Amino acid sequence: MCGIVGYIGKRDAVKVLLNGLQRLEYRGYDSAGLSVIENGTLLTFKRKGKVAELVKLLEKKQINCSVGIAHTRWATHGEPNDINAHPHTDNSNTISIVHNGIIENYHSLKQMLLAKGFHFVSETDTEVLAVLIGYFYDKTQDLEEAIRAALSEVQGTFGVAILSAKEPDKIVAARRGSPMIVGIGEDEYIVASDAAAIIQYTRQVIYLDDNEMVTLNRESYSTKTIDNRLTNSIIHLVDFDLSKIEKGGYEHFMLKEIFEQPQTIRDACRGRLLVDDGNARLGGLLPVFDNLRNVDRFILTACGTSWHAALVGEYLIENLCGIPVEVEYASEFRYRNPIIRKNDIVIAISQSGETADTLAAVQEAKQKGATVLGIVNVVGSSIARATDAGVYIHAGPEIGVASTKAFTSQLVVLSLLSLLLGRMRNLSKLDGIQIARGISELPSKVEQILERADQIKAIAKEFSYSRNFLYLGRGYNFPVALEGALKMKEVTYIHAEGYPSAEMKHGPIALIDENMPVVFIAPKDEIYDKVISNIEEVRSRKGRVIVIATEKDERIKKYAEKVFYIPETLPMLTPILSVIPLQLLAYYIAVELGYNVDQPRNLAKSVTVE
Ligand code: GLU
Repeated sequence: MCGIVGYIGKRDAVKVLLNGLQRLEYRGYDSAGLSVIENGTLLTFKRKGKVAELVKLLEKKQINCSVGIAHTRWATHGEPNDINAHPHTDNSNTISIVHNGIIENYHSLKQMLLAKGFHFVSETDTEVLAVLIGYFYDKTQDLEEAIRAALSEVQGTFGVAILSAKEPDKIVAARRGSPMIVGIGEDEYIVASDAAAIIQYTRQVIYLDDNEMVTLNRESYSTKTIDNRLTNSIIHLVDFDLSKIEKGGYEHFMLKEIFEQPQTIRDACRGRLLVDDGNARLGGLLPVFDNLRNVDRFILTACGTSWHAALVGEYLIENLCGIPVEVEYASEFRYRNPIIRKNDIVIAISQSGETADTLAAVQEAKQKGATVLGIVNVVGSSIARATDAGVYIHAGPEIGVASTKAFTSQLVVLSLLSLLLGRMRNLSKLDGIQIARGISELPSKVEQILERADQIKAIAKEFSYSRNFLYLGRGYNFPVALEGALKMKEVTYIHAEGYPSAEMKHGPIALIDENMPVVFIAPKDEIYDKVISNIEEVRSRKGRVIVIATEKDERIKKYAEKVFYIPETLPMLTPILSVIPLQLLAYYIAVELGYNVDQPRNLAKSVTVE
């Protein structure tokens, strides 16, 4: 979680840091702060709330400095307030640190430091690390050595950037389990937890590895492992368009990203769809083609929205290729003793490629000898680098905290993967052509849906008073019901649940009365009639029925209070269309209720803590 940015160079550091924080704010918005060194003095400013509060605090201050670190927080230890905001300093106010992650053994370290006479002002785990570094710094008088000593005592995860007033021309950063990227400019360096804070200044970056540390001086940098061995860092070029991280005329990133979906779906397919051969080309999987031919079972692992994509993936792969699939929450997978056999392939799905639990699941699977693949959005992210091979979804930066375009792009990639796997086995060329064609037609079908966004807006207005929502779908659209409910919870704080339609009878039906909106995803497919029966069951209990149906389905109007039509497509591709009205419904209700859609309370983009 959280955003970190550090700058050393010739520019006005405060400006660069505040700009970076604004770009990173989607990663945490409980509080924001920065430390700079001005004429050898360490100055720290921090404020509860959004980055705008920090900007206000600094407005009238004249600070002249060209080195500093900054942070936007997603609290794990200690409530969001001014004192718990980062940066944190040691007892002598010599060093300052910003931290992403959790110091798991902070309690015992704190006891040890208290016994030595140190004191603490905040409730955070991070301050313990600041004081610990300060303790070693007193002894060694060498910042890197002190940091190395402190980090080797620490359990848990961290991305950190550190300043010292005694070594004013230096920033040290390190990582274990949290992303950290260094932008290499001309006589300037920017270190950040996310490329979004860097690309305005340079496109040349190095990605720190786990247990790696970087020292940035004014004219040079060096990388080492935390246990002091030199490392060889490779400079990558980030291909990232600045306009993609700006709102471009939309009121919110979430809306912009929903409307980007025709393009992002096109981008997910670009160069990958072989319509005439009825096949898909996924170059990133070439190194593991033999494993894919011999696979006995897939395990798809993910969290949140990506986990819903994985559930659709299960239906797709089993239906098209006849290979058994299991879907696991990454957080569960990593802590039980999963059985992984020789020909199993684990696929980790993550938008950011930094999700802590999914990354840990990747490591667990690798340790057990599995081939591990990634379906990831962010190029060069930790999961992308930790996996044996994979497929990028190429959705571009997703800033809205509630994931939208990444979900549909994940579904496109899973459809392409199932097509490829199916064609390696028994799927006929004819069927393959039909699927490839279906995928290629998706962008224009999504456009047709978005043209009618106002219909959803009207439904949203009418239902925004509701305190609960039920989402029901079957087959491929059961995971869409889960995703629709998740979107609703995330941005509107309305309680919502998703179920397979037929499961309703086994409990949730007790909730239905005239105040309960029930959203059915009921496209024309082989289980359509069964869903109609489920709708009848809701209607006879006075539930308010909203249906996502296939266009031209006139019959459904008889059963529903509201109908929203989606274009016809293959049943396996319906989730990519049916989820879009549900994203819009959550969005418009949140706007109607006056909530901050892009930064919903308690959430943050990419969960890099367990
Ligand atoms: N554990 C630290 C805190 O609660 C860092 C949280 C973060 O990643 O923002 O302050």
